[in-house]
Amino acid sequence: MVLDYILRNAAIAGSEPRTCDIGVASGRIAAISERIEADIPIEDVGGKLVVPGFVETHIHLDKSCILDRCKSREGTLAEAIAEVAAAKRGFSEDDIYRRARRTLEKAIVQGTMRVRTHVEVDPRIGLKGFHAIRTLKQAYAWAIDLEICVFPQEGLLNDPGTEELLIEACEQGADLIGGCPYTDNNPHGQIARIFAIAQRFDCDVDFHLDFDLDPSWMDLEEVCRKTEEMRWGGRVAIGHVTKLSALKPERFTAAARRLADAGVAVTVLPATDLFLAGRNHDHNVPRGVAPAHRLLDHGVTCSIASNNVLNPFTPFGDCSLVRMANLYANIAQVGRANELTACLDMITAVPAKLMNLRDYGVAIGNPADFVVLDCRDRTAAIAEIARPLFGIKHGHRTFVCPPAKLLAADCDSDHRGAEA
Ligand SMILES: [Zn+2]
Repeated sequence: MVLDYILRNAAIAGSEPRTCDIGVASGRIAAISERIEADIPIEDVGGKLVVPGFVETHIHLDKSCILDRCKSREGTLAEAIAEVAAAKRGFSEDDIYRRARRTLEKAIVQGTMRVRTHVEVDPRIGLKGFHAIRTLKQAYAWAIDLEICVFPQEGLLNDPGTEELLIEACEQGADLIGGCPYTDNNPHGQIARIFAIAQRFDCDVDFHLDFDLDPSWMDLEEVCRKTEEMRWGGRVAIGHVTKLSALKPERFTAAARRLADAGVAVTVLPATDLFLAGRNHDHNVPRGVAPAHRLLDHGVTCSIASNNVLNPFTPFGDCSLVRMANLYANIAQVGRANELTACLDMITAVPAKLMNLRDYGVAIGNPADFVVLDCRDRTAAIAEIARPLFGIKHGHRTFVCPPAKLLAADCDSDHRGAEA
């Protein structure tokens, strides 16, 4: 076996603090061993943590970076949907591409290497968003794998022409189909239609679901029921599901078991959920974020993701999944070492399972995809929001973020000499 490159002294996430060498050949991981010797380029990372790139299961690239076109006075979900629907009428394919590219490039330098992006389709925007993101997917395949989920943000059964466009997008290469039953005049009708499209194209399903704090009704049961009826377990995800945060313990446990049994995964979107939830409270404002780590304990496949970046749904965002996991840990009040490692798992291995990625992970035979973080273990990665130092995709370097250097005025040369 002829190796091209060795990543030396890597603390592979899950195996730390033990370190090893990783041998790369033709863009794939060809060897992992305590010590690999060969007369080829070697990069010693000195025991830093190595992850196989972060996995973002839920981000809206097509409507990112539009704060200058929208107002956010109430900060409610209804306002965000209305504002974006109005702004969307002015979108061109080129405009969508430029904004989405800006957001995707941020995600790349934050160490994200696999992405599911949700793209809006309806008779006003047509397939402009889909076509722009499809072009982006090809242009950035050297750095990131982009999976396109087309979905009807403004409803399906109440919006004639939308279903035909969703089908057209699937025929033109959309990877999966999404739904948004809470904006439909017939939520269960929409769920049924989305599953029918998924069956026709043999693709996965990803719904925006149960996005408020009223526990008196939920669409979760209907999605689980359809998943079982269609035998689609392991291929269905639901995002937000903030109602789960409003359930008393017994009902929460029952819902978690239902999700685990049906094979329905959950994506928690802390930034958006925190920003939009509980706007009708003037004190003791609820957090409104589903307890992902507790779902995980019940065997639910669970991811933490970004959702929106710089728009009325979330007027923030640097696309850092490590920061998002830290935000989740903070608001979910989890801080023990095993809980923090679970938070890292929810932006790496578990979302890879949600997306049914079969070649993810630092293992022999998989693509040589690595991100080196400026820390030594998973706990520190989340607790300290460790910075990604560089990334390698298919064996090629995709970004570098050199560590910061202090430049103190009184840092005399003697001291520096002593350190050297
Ligand atoms: Zn979303």
